[in-house]
Amino acid sequence: MRNTDVVVCDPKPLRFWQRFYLVEVLKGLGVTLRHFLGNLFGRKYTVTVEWPEVKREYSDRLRGRHVLLTREDGSPRCVACYMCETACPADCIHIEAEEDPTSTVEWEKRPKVFNIDLLRCVFCGLCVDACPKEAIIMTRHHEMAFTGREEAVATIDTLLQKGPIDRIDLGYRPYYGRESRPITLPIPVRVEPAPKAPRPDLAATP
Ligand code: SF4
Ligand code: SF4
Repeated sequence: MRNTDVVVCDPKPLRFWQRFYLVEVLKGLGVTLRHFLGNLFGRKYTVTVEWPEVKREYSDRLRGRHVLLTREDGSPRCVACYMCETACPADCIHIEAEEDPTSTVEWEKRPKVFNIDLLRCVFCGLCVDACPKEAIIMTRHHEMAFTGREEAVATIDTLLQKGPIDRIDLGYRPYYGRESRPITLPIPVRVEPAPKAPRPDLAATP
């Protein structure tokens, strides 16, 4: 390595008043106070979304919680083939199969246990793509809050579709053909000033 490859960043020497630190502490408190008052009266520096009062508008490409669809008689369309469990990259689907007494030539099994650990799920949608029966789909429901790990495991009872499919706001799949729309935040984000030009002494360093 040549010496010219090394950029030496010597800190600037402290000025007289900076050596007492008190002035710098007061200046720092002044910045804090400026931001506090600016946010209190003018929302000048706030960039956070105050959920749940304010909802952020998400992209059409959002994928949320899963739903297991049912047949006309209310039984799960899932035939416990394990395709989704095999395809899941997060290993968060757990299925246990049992014989279906109403089996036909089209299926033999049904899920006795169908769990999805939503804390491990990365909402990639591969389980939807893998399903040969279109039994599992994803919705746009993404507001999930849990007080423990057990609550985060969605069981077959909570996953099974409780209403007609046309009431479900579907999560994004490319073949659904939903038009994309731009994402806009409800609260304007403050534009930061452009970075300052480099110090002349550093810019001159080869
Ligand atoms: S969305 Fe992805 S990570 Fe989540 S259960 Fe399906 S395959 Fe697994
Ligand atoms: S891929 Fe579909 S049918 Fe197979 S186990 Fe998963 S949800 Fe059930």
